[in-house]
Amino acid sequence: MYENTIRYIKELYNSQDVPLSVPKFIGKEKEYLNECIDTTYVSSVGRFVDRFESDMARYTGARRAVVCVSGTNALHMALLLSGVERNDEVLTQALTFIATCNAICYTGAQPVFIDVDKSTMGLSPDAVKDWLSKNGEIRDGQCYDKRTGRRVKACVPMHTFGHPVRIEELAIICDEWHIELVEDAAESIGSKYKGRHTGLFGKVGVLSFNGNKTITTGGGGMMLFMDDDIGAKAKHLTNQAKVPHRWEFRHDHIGYNYRMPNINAALGCAQLEHLDEFIADKRATAKAYAEYFKNVPGIDFFTEPENCFSNYWLNVVILKDREAQQGFLQETNDKGVMTRPIWELMNRMPMFDHCQHDSLENTIWFAERVVNIPSSVRCL
Ligand SMILES: *Cc1c(COP(=O)(O)O)cnc(C)c1O
Repeated sequence: MYENTIRYIKELYNSQDVPLSVPKFIGKEKEYLNECIDTTYVSSVGRFVDRFESDMARYTGARRAVVCVSGTNALHMALLLSGVERNDEVLTQALTFIATCNAICYTGAQPVFIDVDKSTMGLSPDAVKDWLSKNGEIRDGQCYDKRTGRRVKACVPMHTFGHPVRIEELAIICDEWHIELVEDAAESIGSKYKGRHTGLFGKVGVLSFNGNKTITTGGGGMMLFMDDDIGAKAKHLTNQAKVPHRWEFRHDHIGYNYRMPNINAALGCAQLEHLDEFIADKRATAKAYAEYFKNVPGIDFFTEPENCFSNYWLNVVILKDREAQQGFLQETNDKGVMTRPIWELMNRMPMFDHCQHDSLENTIWFAERVVNIPSSVRCL
């Protein structure tokens, strides 16, 4: 049934066996890794950690960037820095990768699942506004959930597959309701909303450098800040909260061993040197797909939202219904073209099935239709 599409993708990637998203190493990766080994600086100190942070701050326009061992760690730290505590509530999407919710749960807070927009696949400002006007109440300058009595401390939108959410509107709503905004920008490195890099609209933005992301450090994550003081606090807490001293071991807070090793940062520095080329290549692939699927009945290609520049981390096609989605997955995977459904919705997993949610109308619509198709860098 999908022979033509399978043939098209194999030709596009010039391969009989097309993976979903694999890393690309075409630069100074080996040179920088060798430098780490030759100088013995493979672990928690070394020049690449500082360089990766300052290069990334410059690239994104953040005032400060702080690296972590993973995006999940970075999200956990971002929520702690936003003051999220045990028994708080955190508004987020059910349509996300598990890391978003796990990080919320590490703080002891409860996720609340709000619907996404049809135009972005990310958290809907309209749905957040609706939920807050029904359930929210401001007391002593803080937002509370009237029904549960819990404090609503933070909101974590996710820029799904690299497509920016309506982040400006979310920032305004969060401000009005005294809620901290933490962006899960793990998938959206290089993506911009009205020319501004994703991750810079709230208190903290989080990136991931896992192996399947647009650039990789093997494993790794990063927090982006527009506030120097919180950035400095993040650096301190991710380094076991050690008070700087030439030989003494003194710590002034419960800290975390979340810092990225130099060897991973070295990989990141080399990858970052080619990020713009990777994104240009991925956008060209998306453009080719968009043209191709115009002529394929029953399959729509998802394109970047208005006023946004998307990195097209993972390309998305929308099938007619659940049955078509399953059929497409079966046939493509059987014939050497790797495709994946969108994640199982968070509210359907045993750890989160008791959590509050709204109608999730668009969320369910996407869950039954979205398939990710091959998206690796193609021509470099
Ligand atoms: C990749 C990803 C993360 C972070 O994952 P790590 O593997 O810990 O770096 C967080 N949220 C989303 C939505 C992701 O896709």
